[in-house]
Amino acid sequence: MEIQEALSKLDALQRKMIAYNHALGLIDYDGATAAPAGAAANRTETLALLSEESYKLSTSPETVELLDFLHENSAALDETHRRIVGNMYDEMNDMRRVPMAEYVEYQRLNAQSQDAWHQAKEKDDYALFKPYLEKMIAANRQLMRYMKPDLPTYDALLDRYEKGLTRERCDAFFDTVRQELVPLIHAVNAAPQVDDSCLFGHFPIAEQRKLSDYLMDVMKLDRAHVGIAETEHPFTTAFTKYDVRITTHYHENNFSYSMYSVIHEGGHALYDAHPADELAYTVLGCGVSMSIHESQSRFYENIIGRSRGYIRLIAPKLRELFPSLAEVSDEALYRALNKAMPSLVRTEADELTYCLHILIRYELEQKLFDGQLSVDDLPAEWNRLYREYLGIEVPTDREGVLQDMHWSGGLFGYFPSYALGSAYGAQMLHVMKQTVDVDGALAAGDLSPINGWLEEHIWKYGGLYDPGVLLEKALGAPFDPQYYVRYLRDKYTELYGL
Ligand SMILES: [Zn+2]
Repeated sequence: MEIQEALSKLDALQRKMIAYNHALGLIDYDGATAAPAGAAANRTETLALLSEESYKLSTSPETVELLDFLHENSAALDETHRRIVGNMYDEMNDMRRVPMAEYVEYQRLNAQSQDAWHQAKEKDDYALFKPYLEKMIAANRQLMRYMKPDLPTYDALLDRYEKGLTRERCDAFFDTVRQELVPLIHAVNAAPQVDDSCLFGHFPIAEQRKLSDYLMDVMKLDRAHVGIAETEHPFTTAFTKYDVRITTHYHENNFSYSMYSVIHEGGHALYDAHPADELAYTVLGCGVSMSIHESQSRFYENIIGRSRGYIRLIAPKLRELFPSLAEVSDEALYRALNKAMPSLVRTEADELTYCLHILIRYELEQKLFDGQLSVDDLPAEWNRLYREYLGIEVPTDREGVLQDMHWSGGLFGYFPSYALGSAYGAQMLHVMKQTVDVDGALAAGDLSPINGWLEEHIWKYGGLYDPGVLLEKALGAPFDPQYYVRYLRDKYTELYGL
């Protein structure tokens, strides 16, 4: 085989894989948005069949021969193709170690587990989900044994979402967070509380939908390529950079929950929509890791979306849509939208206490995978940790252990990326401000300079570099969690007059 011939086969293979992923992703997305409740079993069968085809494609003798050849000749490839081949070669070998029947069975279990979680959460009945959770933990333990036999299971799970991340590095990060932020949270709790009553009332969903459109415009999301729908749990999915979907969940009694979901998912969507065009139909045409993804979504949600400048920018629109805010000042809105108080639900948590929600999940996951905690004891342990770290009682499993969809879909080891992403974002702001007038951009109502910096340093690279390499290139220095700690300390010291 000649190199040129192999590269055109590689191109065709990637396009086919992306088409399979498009179909699988769309069926999944449909299940969460529009499909009638009784369609779940049918969907599960379709997903299992397509997953089988997708598995066969990525492990077929032709694929193995092609990737073996290109891997052997990687010195003759340009940087982008070397990276594509390296990633596909590793992935293929990971996949080949998993027996096909087990892989297909896992896809089926995954769909059933998500369906059971939906029902369990709706009925506030953990017992409906428990057997599936147990099977998902066992299945993921087995998958990691096949795929990454040299790594301890929980390290293997962390590595899946952030290449190179280990429990040791996570522990070091969470130790800093625990030491520095827990005293700050205690000081905030002891200070006079901010009044956020203006956020509560009646906010018609029709008006909130208009707000979503407006927020997406402010972020400069191209609506020709980014859609929005409504789901129980907000998420973003990208089929290619040209077709990105975000979802939100409206609460009629408080507009801010959906508002920050839209800004958060919008941050993911900006990243998904902006890898360089030449990466679009390659395996590098998406975000490189979950924590870099979360650094973008949480940067927009909190660092931009909860800043004084941003709230001043959108306040006139809020007053136009919601008459109850007519007399509320910009500063009162800023304070209300930044109120910090221990709460039950992660996705509705404030910027300061948020990382404790992650810390709790991080500790529980390790115990579940180390065999120190059974699924029977999980709800009680969940509730105990909320009491210990956040000082609150969990009244129902729906607001406790059943609140997140992650574990039902096998996303173990994913949660730390939310906290790491937040910390990456704080350091990005520091570096961005050296060349971009962030406050000026917000005052002018034109976020292009902010998007421009993110596109130049993060988005356009897609999956071209490992997350650690990309981050250090963007920051011009190694990652340092002190930027995150300092950002939160400065913000909340001022807000609460500490
Ligand atoms: Zn996210």
